[in-house]
Amino acid sequence: MDDCIFCKIAAGTIGTLAYEDDEVAAFDDLNPQAPVHVLIVPKKHITRISDVTDGPDACLMGKILVVANRIAAERGISADGYRIVINCNEGAGQSVWHVHFHLLGGRQMGWPPG
Ligand code: 5GP
Ligand code: ZN
Repeated sequence: MDDCIFCKIAAGTIGTLAYEDDEVAAFDDLNPQAPVHVLIVPKKHITRISDVTDGPDACLMGKILVVANRIAAERGISADGYRIVINCNEGAGQSVWHVHFHLLGGRQMGWPPG
Protein backbone atom coordinates (compact mmCIF):
# COMPACT_ATOMS: atom_id res chain seq x y z
CA MET A 1 0.00 0.00 0.00
CA ASP A 2 1.57 3.27 -1.19
CA ASP A 3 0.93 5.51 1.83
CA CYS A 4 1.66 2.92 4.55
CA ILE A 5 4.82 3.56 6.59
CA PHE A 6 5.19 -0.10 7.61
CA CYS A 7 4.87 -1.26 3.99
CA LYS A 8 7.74 1.09 3.16
CA ILE A 9 9.89 -0.07 6.08
CA ALA A 10 9.14 -3.76 5.37
CA ALA A 11 10.10 -3.25 1.72
CA GLY A 12 13.43 -1.77 2.81
CA THR A 13 12.63 1.62 1.26
CA ILE A 14 13.26 3.44 4.56
CA GLY A 15 14.83 2.52 7.88
CA THR A 16 16.86 -0.52 8.91
CA LEU A 17 15.56 -4.07 9.16
CA ALA A 18 16.54 -6.35 12.03
CA TYR A 19 15.15 -9.41 10.24
CA GLU A 20 13.78 -10.15 6.81
CA ASP A 21 12.58 -13.13 4.82
CA ASP A 22 10.26 -13.40 1.84
CA GLU A 23 7.12 -12.77 3.88
CA VAL A 24 8.12 -11.13 7.17
CA ALA A 25 10.17 -8.12 8.28
CA ALA A 26 11.20 -6.83 11.72
CA PHE A 27 12.62 -3.54 12.90
CA ASP A 28 13.23 -1.69 16.15
CA ASP A 29 10.40 0.50 17.41
CA LEU A 30 10.98 4.26 16.97
CA ASN A 31 9.76 4.91 20.53
CA PRO A 32 10.83 1.84 22.53
CA GLN A 33 8.82 0.91 25.63
CA ALA A 34 11.39 -1.63 26.87
CA PRO A 35 15.12 -2.30 26.35
CA VAL A 36 14.08 -4.67 23.55
CA HIS A 37 11.11 -3.43 21.51
CA VAL A 38 10.94 -4.90 18.04
CA LEU A 39 8.03 -4.70 15.61
CA ILE A 40 7.41 -7.73 13.42
CA VAL A 41 5.17 -7.33 10.40
CA PRO A 42 4.00 -9.21 7.33
CA LYS A 43 5.39 -7.72 4.13
CA LYS A 44 1.85 -8.01 2.78
CA HIS A 45 -0.37 -5.14 3.85
CA ILE A 46 -2.99 -6.31 6.37
CA THR A 47 -4.70 -3.45 8.19
CA ARG A 48 -5.50 -5.08 11.54
CA ILE A 49 -5.37 -8.50 13.19
CA SER A 50 -9.16 -8.84 13.11
CA ASP A 51 -8.97 -8.87 9.30
CA VAL A 52 -7.11 -12.20 9.46
CA THR A 53 -9.27 -15.24 8.72
CA ASP A 54 -8.47 -18.92 8.40
CA GLY A 55 -6.13 -19.65 5.51
CA PRO A 56 -2.76 -18.33 4.31
CA ASP A 57 -2.91 -15.14 6.38
CA ALA A 58 -3.44 -17.17 9.57
CA CYS A 59 -0.33 -19.22 8.69
CA LEU A 60 1.54 -15.98 8.12
CA MET A 61 0.61 -14.76 11.61
CA GLY A 62 1.95 -18.03 13.03
CA LYS A 63 5.16 -17.50 11.11
CA ILE A 64 5.49 -14.06 12.69
CA LEU A 65 5.30 -15.66 16.14
CA VAL A 66 8.13 -17.99 15.20
CA VAL A 67 10.17 -15.00 14.00
CA ALA A 68 9.42 -13.25 17.32
CA ASN A 69 10.76 -16.28 19.21
CA ARG A 70 13.88 -16.24 17.07
CA ILE A 71 14.51 -12.52 17.63
CA ALA A 72 13.88 -12.93 21.37
CA ALA A 73 16.58 -15.61 21.47
CA GLU A 74 18.97 -13.47 19.42
CA ARG A 75 18.41 -10.47 21.71
CA GLY A 76 18.97 -12.59 24.84
CA ILE A 77 15.53 -12.12 26.42
CA SER A 78 14.16 -15.66 26.08
CA ALA A 79 15.13 -16.99 29.49
CA ASP A 80 13.95 -14.00 31.52
CA GLY A 81 10.78 -13.64 29.49
CA TYR A 82 9.19 -11.48 26.88
CA ARG A 83 5.81 -10.24 25.80
CA ILE A 84 4.22 -10.24 22.36
CA VAL A 85 1.46 -7.67 21.90
CA ILE A 86 -0.95 -6.93 19.07
CA ASN A 87 -3.15 -3.86 19.47
CA CYS A 88 -6.35 -4.09 17.41
CA ASN A 89 -8.17 -0.83 16.67
CA GLU A 90 -8.14 2.51 18.50
CA GLY A 91 -9.58 1.25 21.78
CA ALA A 92 -6.61 -1.07 22.22
CA GLY A 93 -4.11 1.59 21.17
CA GLN A 94 -3.49 0.70 17.54
CA SER A 95 -2.00 3.73 15.81
CA VAL A 96 -0.39 2.27 12.68
CA TRP A 97 -2.78 0.58 10.28
CA HIS A 98 -0.58 -2.30 9.15
CA VAL A 99 -0.74 -5.28 11.47
CA HIS A 100 2.34 -5.53 13.71
CA PHE A 101 3.44 -7.69 16.61
CA HIS A 102 5.30 -5.88 19.39
CA LEU A 103 8.11 -7.96 20.91
CA LEU A 104 8.96 -6.46 24.30
CA GLY A 105 11.57 -7.58 26.82
CA GLY A 106 14.62 -6.75 28.86
CA ARG A 107 12.68 -5.49 31.88
CA GLN A 108 10.08 -6.80 34.29
CA MET A 109 6.59 -6.54 32.78
CA GLY A 110 3.53 -5.46 34.72
CA TRP A 111 0.08 -7.01 34.55
CA PRO A 112 -2.60 -6.05 33.70
CA PRO A 113 -1.30 -3.96 30.81
CA GLY A 114 -2.48 -0.36 30.65
P1 5GP B 1 0.49 0.56 17.82
O1 5GP B 1 0.21 1.74 18.71
O2 5GP B 1 -0.16 0.72 16.47
O3 5GP B 1 0.23 -0.77 18.44
O4 5GP B 1 2.05 0.57 17.60
C1 5GP B 1 2.67 1.38 16.66
C2 5GP B 1 4.13 1.40 17.02
O5 5GP B 1 4.84 1.83 15.89
C3 5GP B 1 4.48 2.35 18.16
O6 5GP B 1 5.15 1.64 19.18
C4 5GP B 1 5.36 3.40 17.50
O7 5GP B 1 6.40 3.84 18.34
C5 5GP B 1 5.88 2.67 16.28
N1 5GP B 1 6.17 3.49 15.12
C6 5GP B 1 5.34 4.42 14.57
N2 5GP B 1 5.91 4.95 13.46
C7 5GP B 1 7.11 4.33 13.33
C8 5GP B 1 8.15 4.45 12.36
O8 5GP B 1 8.10 5.23 11.41
N3 5GP B 1 9.24 3.65 12.53
C9 5GP B 1 9.33 2.76 13.57
N4 5GP B 1 10.45 2.02 13.64
N5 5GP B 1 8.36 2.62 14.49
C10 5GP B 1 7.26 3.40 14.37
ZN1 ZN C 1 1.16 -1.55 5.01
